[in-house]
Parts: sequence; C-alpha cells; structure tokens
Amino acid sequence: MNPYDNRAKVVVLIFFISFIIWNEPIFAQTNVWQAGVARVEITPKDSLWLAGYASRDHVVEGTLHKLWAKALAIKDGNGELGVLITADLLGLPKSISDNIRTQCKKKYNLEKSQIILSSSHTHSGPVLSESLFVVYPLTSEQIEKIDSYSVQLEKQIIDLIGQVLENMLPSQLYSNNGVVRFQVNRRNNDASELTVQTHLNGPNDYAVPVLEVRKTNGDLFATAFGYACHPTVLDSYQWSGDYPGFSQLALEELYPDMTALFFQGCGADQNPLPRHSVSLAKQYGQELAIAVERVIEDESESIQSVLVTGYSEVSLYFASPPDKETLERISEDTTVVYQQKWAKQMLRKMKEGQSLPTSYPYPVQIWKLGNQTIIALGGEVVIDYAIALKRIFGNDIFVMSYCNDVMGYIPSLRVLREGGYEGAEAQMVYDLPATWQADTEVRIISEVIKLAQEMGVEIPKSKLFQK
Ligand SMILES: [Zn+2]
Repeated sequence: MNPYDNRAKVVVLIFFISFIIWNEPIFAQTNVWQAGVARVEITPKDSLWLAGYASRDHVVEGTLHKLWAKALAIKDGNGELGVLITADLLGLPKSISDNIRTQCKKKYNLEKSQIILSSSHTHSGPVLSESLFVVYPLTSEQIEKIDSYSVQLEKQIIDLIGQVLENMLPSQLYSNNGVVRFQVNRRNNDASELTVQTHLNGPNDYAVPVLEVRKTNGDLFATAFGYACHPTVLDSYQWSGDYPGFSQLALEELYPDMTALFFQGCGADQNPLPRHSVSLAKQYGQELAIAVERVIEDESESIQSVLVTGYSEVSLYFASPPDKETLERISEDTTVVYQQKWAKQMLRKMKEGQSLPTSYPYPVQIWKLGNQTIIALGGEVVIDYAIALKRIFGNDIFVMSYCNDVMGYIPSLRVLREGGYEGAEAQMVYDLPATWQADTEVRIISEVIKLAQEMGVEIPKSKLFQK
C-alpha cells in the first residue's frame, strides 16, 4: 500500500472537516430566524394634555410629526418567540402594561417574558391614564379624554402584536454597539455653563445599541436601536417623538424599505444639552441616525437563531414616609406646585386611614439572542445601572429602561445618597409615598444576575466576584 494514499486521505478529511466548520452555507440554518415588523399611528385625534412637564398650562396645539407604536417580532429555529414594542410615549403605567400583557396571553399565548413594552420617554406625547396626574392641572373632561385615548392605545398595541405575528419571514439578525456623545449628565453639569465648559462631568454611557434585521438575501427591513438620554429637547405644545422621533425619520429616509424602532436606555440622569429648539432635536436625531448608519454599514456577525426570554419582579422597598409636620409644611409651601399637591394628597390619605404602600413589584426582563444579551428594566433608570451591568456582563450587552412599567425614577445608591431630583423629589412627581430604600440598587442588580443565571446567560466569574 502506498503510504501517500493515507496522507491524501488525511488531507481530504481535514479539508472536509474545515469545510463543515467554516463554510457558512452548511450551518446557515442555525442563523435563520423568522422576523416581522409592523407599525400603527398613535397621534391622538383629541386635544389632549402633553406629558412630561409640570410647567405646561394648556393642551396640545398641533403636530410636529406623527407618533408611532412599532412592533418587531422574532422567532428562533425552535419556535421561541419574542415581541418588542417601541412607542413615542413618556412611559406606560403598570395598569396599561398589565392590560396589554393579559390580553396578549389570552389572544396570542404570549408570556410576560416574551413581550418588551418600551417607551421612548418623549416629553411631547400624550398623558396616559393613571400616570403623573399630580403634576398636571387636569379637568374632569380632560381626564375622560385621556382615559378614552388610553383604552384605544391598549387596543391598538394588542392589534399591532397580532398583525406582526402574522407577517414573519425568514431573516438574519445582527447586533453591535455604535457611539454618539450628545448626552450630558444633567446632575453633574450646569446647562447654563456648557458653552464655556471644556470638560463635561460623567458618569455617562455613550453606547448606541443596534439590532439589524435582514431578509435572507441581505436586504435590511428593520433596525431597533437605542440611546440613553432624556427626550427633552422640546417643551412646546406640538406632538412629536423629540430627538428619537427625528432619528427614526432620518433612518427611514436613508433606508426607505426599513422600519426604525427606538428604545430608551438608562438615560434618567442624562439630558440632550443644549436644548429647547426644533433644530436641535433634528440635529441630535440625525447624529444618532448617523451612528446607527455606521453600525449598519460596518460588517457584523449574524446572531445564532436561539432565543431565551426571562422575566421576573423583585420587591423594592420604600423608606419611611415623611411625618405629618413635614407634610404639612410642604403642603403650605407654594413654590413647587406638584410638591404641594403631593403633600396634600398624602395628608388626605393618612387622614382617611388609607394604608400607604411599603414596596413595589419592579419588573426585570432579559432576552438572550444567540450571544447577544438584552436587559430591559422598568422605571426611569439612571446611567449607573448600565455601567454596573456592563461591568458584570460585558460591554456588548444592550440595556433598556422605561420598559413594561414606568413607576418612578430608579436611582443608584450614589444618586439616592446625593438626593436631588432623581434621588428624592421625583418620587413626589410619581405620587410615591417616600424615597426608595438604600438596598434598591443591590436588589435590582442581584435580580438581574439571578435571572441571567437561570436563563444560562454567561457571566464571567471574575466579573461576578469583582468589587
Ligand atoms: Zn424623565
């Protein structure tokens, strides 16, 4: 037997094995998802109150651009399904979110873990039922209109989910992080000093998480992208999505066959500065769109078609409410109207013997798409959480906030100790009885780690035990 025969066989075998490992078409099946995208216009037809500022004193006057709810559905090779909803809204209260999720279970058999309800936090959208009523001077007629819009909105989002589930096609997903730097830490910089400041104080997270959805022929048809920054460029009386609205418009103009979906990050203490003009909202929108375009144009690896979803609620506890004397003092002080109103309500509740809540069920959600981890948190979460979670899970993760239930600000221990708006005063805006307890950050981060471990999300051990 010629020894060269065996060598030839080995070479052929090595070639064949390398072909199996490296040649994509053989494994292409594992990267094929089903995905769909849909949208519905949610611009109110009625003249409603605009959400987000206590200083507005009348209803809407017109529309700068339309408001949208958009849906992206993804299904992996095993049939595991997830639906991301993004909307040009300040934030969904628990009541609306629960109604939507209950209906989705009944109609589409979707669990809470499979639906992410994300709001952009635009401050130029409508006030919704049971949200922040303490800050707006609403008449009963206004409240009626808000309630009927909210009922309609619930129905529109439920129908939108039904629609997207009917329209899914074979797709490939890609993810990566871009960067843009217009967010400014609003607690640690003075907006009036910015023109002379050469150094801006952090902390910040400038990441622009991007999820691309392409047909199997490579055509891009949906992009979900995020940024951590308050949509508070505008404070006028016109409906708009603020800078995220302009960003989605710019991307959809750039890629006419693509739907762009924006999700808010942990931007509770980040503002777009300077602000207060339509041209600035457009500028930031375009800056963000260009950052997304860069990621789209750069090569990235496709995501393995494996989806794992997880959801849990962790109790966050309130500190003791202020005593009667303190509440009486606040209720007589006319300098900040919403604080006065809050104190009066608290005194009334105490007088009527109503028991005040001592804890809140805080929603934590994780999606794992192949190796891409997405963490979705409720409330207005400060940037420290994105930084902490990236230290634990790595810089490639996406961190969303304003998801599923926007019940208040979620300060880190640092921000809680410092106090100020995000640490203390905003609790009154949300009609909460007191500040959060000191263990809030630890409870949330621990819950995320626990859920991630249950779902098999990899956590580098060195990171887990790091200080
Ligand atoms: Zn806010």
